[in-house]
Amino acid sequence: MDDYLPSVAFDALQSIALVAGALALMCAAVPFVLPALVPLAFLFAHFRGKYLAATRDVKRFDGTTRSPVFAALGEVPRGLPTLRAYGAQPRFKAAFAGLAGRNLSWWAAFVACARWLGFRLDGVATLALAAEAALIAGLRHRVQPRLAGLALVHGEGEKRRNGRGEVGVRSLKRRPSFLSLAVNLAGAMQWAVRQTAEWEVSMTSVERALELTRLPREPPTRAEGGPPPPPGWPPHGGVDFEGVSAAYRPGLPLVLEEVSFSIPPGSTAGVVGRTGSGKSSLLLTLFRLIPVTSGVVRVGGVDAASLALDALRGAIAVIPQTPTLFSGTLRSNLDPVGAHDDAALWSALEAANMKAAVKRAGGLRAAVTEDAANFSVGERQLLCLARALVADAAVLALDEATANVDAGTDAAIGGALAAARKGGRTLIVIAHRLDTVLGCDQVLVLDDGRLVEAGPPRELTTRAGPFARLAAAAAAAGGGT
Ligand code: ATP
Ligand code: MG
Repeated sequence: MDDYLPSVAFDALQSIALVAGALALMCAAVPFVLPALVPLAFLFAHFRGKYLAATRDVKRFDGTTRSPVFAALGEVPRGLPTLRAYGAQPRFKAAFAGLAGRNLSWWAAFVACARWLGFRLDGVATLALAAEAALIAGLRHRVQPRLAGLALVHGEGEKRRNGRGEVGVRSLKRRPSFLSLAVNLAGAMQWAVRQTAEWEVSMTSVERALELTRLPREPPTRAEGGPPPPPGWPPHGGVDFEGVSAAYRPGLPLVLEEVSFSIPPGSTAGVVGRTGSGKSSLLLTLFRLIPVTSGVVRVGGVDAASLALDALRGAIAVIPQTPTLFSGTLRSNLDPVGAHDDAALWSALEAANMKAAVKRAGGLRAAVTEDAANFSVGERQLLCLARALVADAAVLALDEATANVDAGTDAAIGGALAAARKGGRTLIVIAHRLDTVLGCDQVLVLDDGRLVEAGPPRELTTRAGPFARLAAAAAAAGGGT
């Protein structure tokens, strides 16, 4: 948008000025040509309308068929080892040829549209010139020769290319010849039509950029004038939900309904429930990533809605369901702002059971590649856990990645959580395996956004309630929930 739009707009304005100038010159020299130009103007408008209607769709198809080509160009090199291992190159070559062919056929259609327009505008320009020439010849006693000459003979058009390699006529050079005026006028007309169309299309990017500026803002942070937290906050990391309902957006169904529970400071709570029951949404509500429609969430005894966002989020460390690491080094991932020394990072890694793995990878300077592909999903979660421990937040929330982590990783996560708990943190563990929550102080069972059971795990296992039913279903399915 930044590069392309100004040059397109400039081209469009310039060629419009060029056409207008040439026509004005013709009219000034021989005013009688004016009546002949009016029907030609209608003809011009007619062709322009048809061209724009056709190219709008052709351009759209060109765009939509082009993105799969670019996507393939990005994806195939990344998956190359796999492709070669399976000997799938011929299949992917053929698929790529198909994608490119489809795109090129739309591109060819676009070029054909441009030819169609060019041919007709050539005709219009030639007719205009022929009318002018005939009038000059007929009225040769009343037209001044020098004006007649000026009206008929311009310079030669200079070919140029725009950003996409399309050739157009832009400016006049001083090499007079009679024929060249027709060429010039036709070329400039065609260029004006095409560049105004491009201009119009490019303005949609401006519209999109403007839309972004109208997004609703997040509540202010402390630095932006948000309310300061109460002194000494958070004194402890207790979490209380009081009749909390929440929806992802106004108008969408509630994902949490009247949920109430209390996690005392320094204790652990396990959250279980079938997939889609609202476990991850519960964490997002705690973070104020989704708005509470009714009820109160308290962190450290303070209404979370009354806190500045950064204060609230700084007090809670979360290990999300899809662990996110950034490309860089292990150090930049564990301590993005560089506020801690190596010893603190190592002790966090030790607590997270990742010390040996990090040593093997080459220490804190080891690279983290794009999408952290050089670490397994379980290791990524443990690294996120270490990051959370480094941040030293009062509340630690873990959203277990999957039911499919291997037993070793599972044990490592369990051990790491025990370590975190020893540090006096409040822990919320969202688990897909019921084994994970058996060591917790209390278990919350969610079903379809409602809290259907809560209590110490030992109590729940003996009661024939939702938790026992989940356990039975898990046993029947062979371990997962
Ligand atoms: P899982 O065990 O698979 O992780 P979950 O218990 O974490 O499931 P949630 O992710 O909290 O489930 O989803 C609860 C409900 O919220 C689902 O019905 C889902 O359709 C809805 N939901 C989740 N994410 C969004 C979203 N971004 N926008 C709208 N609705 C969503
Ligand atoms: Mg989830």
